[in-house]
Amino acid sequence: MMTWYCRLLLGMTLCSSVLAHPPTSLPENGELVARKISEHIYVVHGPQAFPNPQTAGFMNNPGFILTRDGVVVVDPGSSVQIGRRLLQSIRKITGKPVVAVFNTHVHGDHWLGNQAIRESYPQARIYAHQRMLEQVEAGTGEEWIALFSRLTAGATDGTRVIGPDIGLQGGEVIPIGELSFRIHHTGKAHSDNDIMIELPADSALFTGDIVTNKRIQSARPGDSDIFGQIHAVEFALKTNSRWYLPGHGQSGGREIAERQLQFLQSLLNAVQRYYDQGMSDYEMVEPIKKELSAYSDWYNFDELGRVIAHVFLRVEEKSFE
Ligand SMILES: [Zn+2]
Repeated sequence: MMTWYCRLLLGMTLCSSVLAHPPTSLPENGELVARKISEHIYVVHGPQAFPNPQTAGFMNNPGFILTRDGVVVVDPGSSVQIGRRLLQSIRKITGKPVVAVFNTHVHGDHWLGNQAIRESYPQARIYAHQRMLEQVEAGTGEEWIALFSRLTAGATDGTRVIGPDIGLQGGEVIPIGELSFRIHHTGKAHSDNDIMIELPADSALFTGDIVTNKRIQSARPGDSDIFGQIHAVEFALKTNSRWYLPGHGQSGGREIAERQLQFLQSLLNAVQRYYDQGMSDYEMVEPIKKELSAYSDWYNFDELGRVIAHVFLRVEEKSFE
């Protein structure tokens, strides 16, 4: 338990990041403002922040899709409180019930809000990758709840684990109302249980954290794989979608995924080159920060060293394969 917990804390770089970045406050009335993206899709863009008391732990981009039969929610946020506030913004737009939820992966900021959906709509189906179901079954949800409670000074308390109940593998096409939802899974990438959700009717792709916008992602050793993530972002681009809806940061067009790909490739190339020159991971941090200074305005850039250490491990493993 303790080992897992410490690894989680270290992996997420939460403690140092909370100190390194001033918290972003939500609007005082607590309203989550949904932006209409396309004919059927709305997204609430969460703050670029790690969990803290001011944001009550809100940090991801919950999305929702209006269908003839009801509402489909993607990633209802990090707590029961955020999930309830999301439902308030949905109800301003439609009186239809929530009929389905997709969880893009097991990281708690994306799915602990499931509880709010279930308490209002007990019939709603909750979909996720099969491995996420297994990990929730094994207890990972309780770890995330404890972490969020601590980092938000109790703002998320009352949140309980409501995991997904329908496991996916990738490749499914799920009809809901008049719309089809295509599920993609390309192997281990940001995690080993990522799904991307494509809505061809709107030419839109929910990428989960495979693509984030102007954000250096936290390294979670053992959880993510830069080679797999590059593959997944290339796949995302091949869907030729008009809209890319990232797990964090603003939504937009394919330039978001292109920028993510360029960053990952530049990072991997730099680590590989310095590795081949015999440098250790900590020796290469400063030169790589200089080399990637074009990304210095990305959220969490200060923590690039931790990401480099993780990529270094993968490059080293790869050299023995
Ligand atoms: Zn994540």
